[in-house]
Amino acid sequence: MSVIAANLQAVHQRIAAAAQQAGRQPADIALLAVSKTVPPDRIRAAYAAGQVAFGENYVQEGVDKIAALADLRHRLQWHFIGPLQSNKTRLVAEHFDWVHAVDRLRIAERLSAQRPAGMAALQVCIQVNISGEASKSGVAPAEVPGLAHAVAALPGLRLRGLMAIPEPEHDPAAQRRPFAAMRAMLQALRTDGLDLDTLSMGMSGDMEAAIAEGATLVRIGTAIFGARQYP
Ligand SMILES: *Cc1c(COP(=O)(O)O)cnc(C)c1O
Repeated sequence: MSVIAANLQAVHQRIAAAAQQAGRQPADIALLAVSKTVPPDRIRAAYAAGQVAFGENYVQEGVDKIAALADLRHRLQWHFIGPLQSNKTRLVAEHFDWVHAVDRLRIAERLSAQRPAGMAALQVCIQVNISGEASKSGVAPAEVPGLAHAVAALPGLRLRGLMAIPEPEHDPAAQRRPFAAMRAMLQALRTDGLDLDTLSMGMSGDMEAAIAEGATLVRIGTAIFGARQYP
């Protein structure tokens, strides 16, 4: 078995164990393999081991890999998970299936307008700045309802839920607090009439805490592909 296949198996075991602890079904937690800095041949190896959803942080790097893996385009799901500037929205709207870090209406409007007519709606999440001022990206919690209703009304998009990257914490109880706040925020939006099903939260170091608080999609890089090598 390849290293990537073995790592994937170990991550699935972690997800299953965390789900069981929380009284949840492992099948209700999707695994997004974060492949930033990972070359196409290693993404191919992950696909060969059964992984279909991949997350990229940088627009050009992601578009290049989608092109390099064009033969698998219909089998793979590509998620853009990095911060997005308005001059890069067109490439993302034209090439990706999901965007996780929408934090301004202007970005959402551009993605909606630039989504090609023949493609399915772009699936999006709103990124919430759940740890407060320490982190720069994401919308403030108080602004989430207004933004969510506006994004949900855009024709080229389908709002699926919320995403967060809390400040790193080692203590499991401290890890759970921001995730619990995210869960409550999603529930409030649903009570308010929005049809949402996604909590994109949890990375290699905190996926158990995220699953305990209702994550439906965990974004895992290092635990699958090893430590990243930046060029
Ligand atoms: C890099 C990254 C991840 C994966 O982090 P790991 O700690 O390597 O699992 C998840 N989400 C986002 C937004 C990232 O940028």
